[in-house]
Amino acid sequence: MDRNPPLDRKPVVIFSSLNLAEAHLVHQALRQARLKATLRNALRAPLMGEIPADDARAEVTVAPEDEAAAQAVIAALEAQGQGDEWACRDCGEANPASFEICWQCGRAHVP
Ligand SMILES: [Zn+2]
Repeated sequence: MDRNPPLDRKPVVIFSSLNLAEAHLVHQALRQARLKATLRNALRAPLMGEIPADDARAEVTVAPEDEAAAQAVIAALEAQGQGDEWACRDCGEANPASFEICWQCGRAHVP
């Protein structure tokens, strides 16, 4: 057992997007696959336009040893997640087809 992993094993940015909903979707999928994914910059993305776009990207990171597994999860997600987005009735936010509730306000999707 490796109880003291080297300090240089920094998290790998496996996914980044200006679309926070997408980043949430990837993050959720990775967690469901039992990978230790972390969502970064989630609170900064809505500020797009006020700060440089590169700083506004939401990023999903995983441990280096999980990189390959995470890429497989994301590839599967992209393959199946090509459905239509839906717009929330309450806040108007666009949500990926696979979301059942609005990521922003939590309202259930009414088709
Ligand atoms: Zn909403």
